[in-house]
Amino acid sequence: MSDTHTVINPATATPVTEVRLATADEADASIEAAHAAFPAWRAMAPGERAGLLRRFAAVVDAHVDELAEIEVRNAGHTWGNARWEAGNVRDCLNYYAGAPERLFGRQIPVPGGVDVTFHEPLGVVGIIVPWNFPMPIAGWGLAPALAAGNTVVLKPAELTPLTAIRIGELALEAGLPEHVLTVIPGKGSVVGERFVTHPLVRKVCFTGSTEVGKRIMAGCAEQVKRVTLELGGKSSNIVFADADVAAAAASAPYAVFDNAGQDCCARSRILVERSAYDKFLSHLEPAVSALRVLDPSDESSEMGPLISAQQRTTVTAYLDEVSVAFSGSAPGGAGYWVAPSVVTVDDPGTRIWREEVFGPVVAVMPFDDEADAVAKANDTEYGLSGSIFTTDLARGLRVARAVEAGNLSVNSHASVRYWTPFGGYKQSGLGRELGPDAPMAFTEEKNVFIAH
Ligand code: NAP
Ligand code: MG
Repeated sequence: MSDTHTVINPATATPVTEVRLATADEADASIEAAHAAFPAWRAMAPGERAGLLRRFAAVVDAHVDELAEIEVRNAGHTWGNARWEAGNVRDCLNYYAGAPERLFGRQIPVPGGVDVTFHEPLGVVGIIVPWNFPMPIAGWGLAPALAAGNTVVLKPAELTPLTAIRIGELALEAGLPEHVLTVIPGKGSVVGERFVTHPLVRKVCFTGSTEVGKRIMAGCAEQVKRVTLELGGKSSNIVFADADVAAAAASAPYAVFDNAGQDCCARSRILVERSAYDKFLSHLEPAVSALRVLDPSDESSEMGPLISAQQRTTVTAYLDEVSVAFSGSAPGGAGYWVAPSVVTVDDPGTRIWREEVFGPVVAVMPFDDEADAVAKANDTEYGLSGSIFTTDLARGLRVARAVEAGNLSVNSHASVRYWTPFGGYKQSGLGRELGPDAPMAFTEEKNVFIAH
């Protein structure tokens, strides 16, 4: 028996549409169809596969506004973010369209013959997407996987299936053969679970909570299935007293409250050198008050609602345990709103300092010197991203090298670019996405020796 899910606009708590959820049997049928489509897709001439990916990118480009509008309604994203996200899918497709014609192997000198290597596709790749960035996370997986010659089954989050469903339709419109990319809306415990257990799925790319990620990894171990994990974070924004402290404070809200804090890269810890601590907070407060927290259907909104009532309950439970130093505004009424909130923390054991809140909440703590800043930033099981503000670039580089995280920025908060590798240290994940090597992660390296 199949179920349906009512998609909700989180800004207004009103229904958008109904989506039918796939059963386990339907998931299996899609996986088997993707497996049947694999031989022809991998055998397609590289230039032809590249051309289809470029056509797919062009069709996505022609639908950026439509996709963005869907995401504004389905996920409560701001218009600016949603347009960027749809554009990011296009850009990933274009970037990885360069890969089919450049999947180079090597010729390795050995005695007695000739030795060559090949990068061969895996087969069916299963991509499990969370609700916080439905479009980019889909694109980061599907574009390099398809480019490397795999077929893809993709499960969007139950809460945010609409843009993925549309992208699946656009793939067919662009001329991708049927079953090369299949979007399967459904529950994690049903469809996601089949990606892990079905033997024809050769790799799982999972983005979501560390808790579910560990279970996916354990499940994949059963078949020694390849797995990439992009999990949670508790990233630090480290501000040294020699930085432009006012500018660092003005930019800090955007590094944590963007997407209402529902961002694995959110700089949810701010570490400020003690001599600049008061000055930083005095500039942070007006910046937080000035943040435009509005229904994202308003083009000027800078922050929207949380994704669900449940996520709001989770976030407000953290806030109930502490005293909030200051907060910004949020609309009243229906919708899953939480005002952006700043908490000062002395005890590093405080739950809000240690756990990924995944909401518009930031915790601020002073530090004494460079070594103390690094120790405090590294005092976490996560290691995804981080920012360092200083005018001393030698120090910027030293601290960037010392922080145990995959994506650091000096005098910037940007951590995601499709040109550069992205992924986590420690319990933030396993493997890397994006960057020039991403297609390789969707291949096996085969070695062939030919005797003279
Ligand atoms: P989640 O449960 O990890 O969900 C992520 C994806 O995994 C969804 O598509 C989900 O499907 C699927 N899934 C769930 N259980 C599964 C299973 N047993 N097998 C296979 N797939 C499964 O995350 P959440 O419950 O939405 O959010 C909880 C917390 O996770 C958040 O508060 C946040 O701290 C963290 N989170 C982190 C990220 C990130 O980018 N690192 C993203 C999202 C959430 P359904 O949703 O359809 O069940
Ligand atoms: Mg869950």
